Amino acid sequence: MRLSACAAVVLAIGFAAEARAQEAVPQNDLLNATLWMQDSVEYKATVLGLFALARIRLDEGLADPAWTALPEMQGEKFGDRPPAIIVDLDETVLDNNRYQASLVTRRTDFSSKEWTKYVNDKVTDAVIGAVDFAKYADAKGVKVFYVSNRTKEEEPATAENMAALGFPMGGNVDTILARGERPDWKSAKESRMKVVADGYRVLLVMGDNLADFTDKASGTRAERNAVLEADMAHWGKDWIMFPNPEYGSWESSAFGGDYKKSADERRKMKIEALKAWEPKS
Ligand SMILES: [Mg+2]
Repeated sequence: MRLSACAAVVLAIGFAAEARAQEAVPQNDLLNATLWMQDSVEYKATVLGLFALARIRLDEGLADPAWTALPEMQGEKFGDRPPAIIVDLDETVLDNNRYQASLVTRRTDFSSKEWTKYVNDKVTDAVIGAVDFAKYADAKGVKVFYVSNRTKEEEPATAENMAALGFPMGGNVDTILARGERPDWKSAKESRMKVVADGYRVLLVMGDNLADFTDKASGTRAERNAVLEADMAHWGKDWIMFPNPEYGSWESSAFGGDYKKSADERRKMKIEALKAWEPKS
């Protein structure tokens, strides 16, 4: 009798464990991208390669007074201006994967209010290789401008965080051009890029989002592909794109940029945006 009671307990424990193992884990659109960016050697090696390319391009640009990443903005006689580069912050030189991971583990969505709290915590990491690259540019007399859609309210904590990470911060020049710092500095970045282009020869633009390079990023997928084609001579030369599978205008273009749509509606539209193979039988 005692033996069979024991067997029943063991069986019950076994069934419970099996039930737990079979418990469905809810899908999360951010999981794979965050795991890849936070944890994979593949991401790190990709980014290190991009910063190595950027050093080569920076040196080529420095040696050639006719070189500019922004020919349409520079106007005349830009060859005499001091050199600069324009660098986006988040997911280009700043690594917010702990924030993204927290969205996954807490099964919640991005909120701008919570994002500001995260920024003010000053726990943002540097993307691997980013500080060394920025220091390399700075040591060659190239001013590093950070054109970011972090807001002007988030700028002080961002600057403190970045200085602690070792980024060159521009001395007497305000090198973080934050969203809202001037009335015409909205999320579109060209008005801020123009300010840099007016005073400097811009050698490189670096970002993880088409919107870091042009204001034409928020169009349809077809329009965005037309931008890619039109700017083909820039890519890998004076415009360097970093991978960001977590978020960006590539994602929002699939649901018309409408974040008021529910997560399910957005997911449905993203699935519909796919070109899929159809098996014949
Ligand atoms: Mg970014």
